[in-house]
Amino acid sequence: MENTMIQQVMTEPGKITFRRIPVPEVQEGQVLVKIKRIGICGSDIHVYYGEHATTSYPVTQGHEVSGKVVQLGGGVEGLHVGQKVTIEPQVYCGKCYPCTHGKYNLCENLKVMGFQTTGTASEYFAVDASKVTPLPDDMGYDEGAMLEPLAVTVHAAKRFEQLKGAKVAILGCGPIGILLAQSCRALGASQVLITDVSDYRLSLAKSVGADFAVNTSEKDFGEAMTEAFGTDKADVIYDCAGNNVTMGQAIKYARKGSKIVLVAVFAGPATVDLFTLNDHELDLDTTMMYRHEDYVDAIRLVNEGKIQLKPLMSRHFAFEAYQKAYQYIEENRETTMKVLIDVDPADD
Ligand SMILES: [Zn+2]
Ligand SMILES: [Zn+2]
Repeated sequence: MENTMIQQVMTEPGKITFRRIPVPEVQEGQVLVKIKRIGICGSDIHVYYGEHATTSYPVTQGHEVSGKVVQLGGGVEGLHVGQKVTIEPQVYCGKCYPCTHGKYNLCENLKVMGFQTTGTASEYFAVDASKVTPLPDDMGYDEGAMLEPLAVTVHAAKRFEQLKGAKVAILGCGPIGILLAQSCRALGASQVLITDVSDYRLSLAKSVGADFAVNTSEKDFGEAMTEAFGTDKADVIYDCAGNNVTMGQAIKYARKGSKIVLVAVFAGPATVDLFTLNDHELDLDTTMMYRHEDYVDAIRLVNEGKIQLKPLMSRHFAFEAYQKAYQYIEENRETTMKVLIDVDPADD
């Protein structure tokens, strides 16, 4: 192994550079991971455009990741050299109220790799073994890098406790909406309706298992739910678009006494109809990232063939073409789902 490596650094919005630095020394309790793939998501894109409220520059990105263990620090058990892994990017304090009550995804001092702390976009990454989750030997590195967004949707799906047999409506057909549709089905929902204003995205959602895919620029959301599910409409509505229009649709058409889960990140304060929310006694819930058990479920569901990730992989770019990846996303917004960076394209 070489002594130095390349690391990605975004020095300012829209400007990606690379620097050569020493390969990190593995500390007690850590492992060294040779990074294979990194996925780019909506939050990364906000950082690229200088629109991420809690990220400052310079920053090394990379929080959707897969790789291979190449070195073990002292005291590490349960992992071996050559093990395929993913890295859970949350850095939490372990001491605050949420941390000491099993909800470290809500740590009062939460930092996320690639945003408030160094991300994994480098040839090697030293990390606490506790943040490393093994992948099955037969899982590809491409799939491995998509477990992070899948864990988001597995966690989101579980925010509705009566999912088994439920009729589910999902607003928004981006990667998270489509992964959530698959997660809900895999976790027992009986039928899923998904909406968007892009026919391209809707047909993709249908091809991976959405039962109903409706273009809400042509059909009213309430009517679509009644046609699909009957007058009782959906048992739960997930908002994966996160704007006043979609949240407005959810509140207006939700069955009285049912639940809405806000999955997407709202860009700012919302203007929505709280009178109706209250009058219909709607349960408005939210969801934030994931915990380890969601990764475990995500891996199991992929392994059982209940979730398809390949159809969502739009394009690969070489590590040195990181900037080009963002340009590609900008030029192909409607048709781009997941773009992957091949930090190391080899599948070994
Ligand atoms: Zn992400
Ligand atoms: Zn904490």
